[in-house]
Amino acid sequence: MTPLLTREDCLSADERDPLAMYRNRFDLPEGIIYLDGNSLGVLPRDAAARANRVIHQEWGTDLIGSWNTHRWFEMPVRIGEKISELIGGTGGACVATDTTSLNIFKTLGAALDIQSQDHPRRRVVVAERESFPTDLYMAEGMIRTLDSGYELRLIDDALTLDDALDDDVAVVLLTQVNYRTGRLWDMAATTSKIQAAGALVIWDLCHSIGAVPIALGSANVDFAVGCTYKYLNGGPGSPAFVWVADRHVNRARQPLSGWWGHQKPFEMTVRYEPSTGIRRYLTGTQPMISLATMEVGVDIALEVDQTALRTKSLELTSLFISLVEERIPHHPLTLITPRQDDERGSHVSLRHPEGFAVMKALIANGVIGDYREPEVLRFGITPLYLGYTDVWDAVEALRRVLDEELWRAPEFQIRGAVT
Ligand SMILES: *Cc1c(COP(=O)(O)O)cnc(C)c1O
Repeated sequence: MTPLLTREDCLSADERDPLAMYRNRFDLPEGIIYLDGNSLGVLPRDAAARANRVIHQEWGTDLIGSWNTHRWFEMPVRIGEKISELIGGTGGACVATDTTSLNIFKTLGAALDIQSQDHPRRRVVVAERESFPTDLYMAEGMIRTLDSGYELRLIDDALTLDDALDDDVAVVLLTQVNYRTGRLWDMAATTSKIQAAGALVIWDLCHSIGAVPIALGSANVDFAVGCTYKYLNGGPGSPAFVWVADRHVNRARQPLSGWWGHQKPFEMTVRYEPSTGIRRYLTGTQPMISLATMEVGVDIALEVDQTALRTKSLELTSLFISLVEERIPHHPLTLITPRQDDERGSHVSLRHPEGFAVMKALIANGVIGDYREPEVLRFGITPLYLGYTDVWDAVEALRRVLDEELWRAPEFQIRGAVT
């Protein structure tokens, strides 16, 4: 890409942008630049009408008949099929359900169930020390629930994945794009390395789905999970998903064996019998209103050309990095996101010793990013509704906050419950 270092250059890049029309599909508040779509995506314009229909017609008028007439019962699998298409899931099946945390527990339980049949001596779960903590907490919970003998092995700068893979490893749990640094794993190469070492892999796609092209089928992935309220714009607390390769679906049981995952839920039998197919990854009654509004975000994502999306995402993140380096060089900002395109997801993170106050001041000045410990300013660059000029203006606001030391104001030092 040729450097785009003036605001006028950014304005003309916006005019040429083949994805520019998608911004209109979302209801964005005036006067802010929203760089937090990797934490909570924005509101699709059609979501309110869809919610209204589910609430007034399906729930309010048609009531319990809606389980059949509006096919509520099939909704998790029907939307799961769309998500599977989005993540290149040929050779596997997907269901929209529960939260990523719960789905990590379910897939980890199923993967360990398979390994206990095939390789009972393998009792190590490998995960990343730097991963989003819930992934580690759920793995820890799973290990505590099982009979003794299982352990968690964490990879980090001192212990690489290559070093960690030995004959004891049963399952590896990795996040495709790291929530803090934005580092991107090579999914296909890493999957085949893990499988060559005799282990199964679970990919967490929370920070990649909707931002990075994904091809689970051609990468021969075993299991994947992810959420829909980040780059998919599914809404606060919208259901997550589970994807399982066909070769594993009917082989393993997941541990949260609730009635929605039963083969014949309405026969009300005493014994649990897992459903054939991906429905066995369901546990209990699912939130129909949230599923319906989430589908609106998924439908938009399905329309978008994934290659064009990735190109724009890389251009915007690299523009952000160049502008920070060119325009704010004299401040203690450290880039912790990889510069190399094939190692970067769709956000940019910078460390600053006063990161928390700097982010608060930036938000007060109309640029919404977020703060993550330790000292990390995180900027989610969602190519569907952001443009080149937005990036230019956001960096300009950051320059002002730092040059004019706006972050020193006392109100920017106070922390709320959610950072
Ligand atoms: C956002 C995120 C989660 C969120 O989990 P929930 O159960 O939906 O709260 C989990 N893992 C990763 C890697 C994430 O980025």
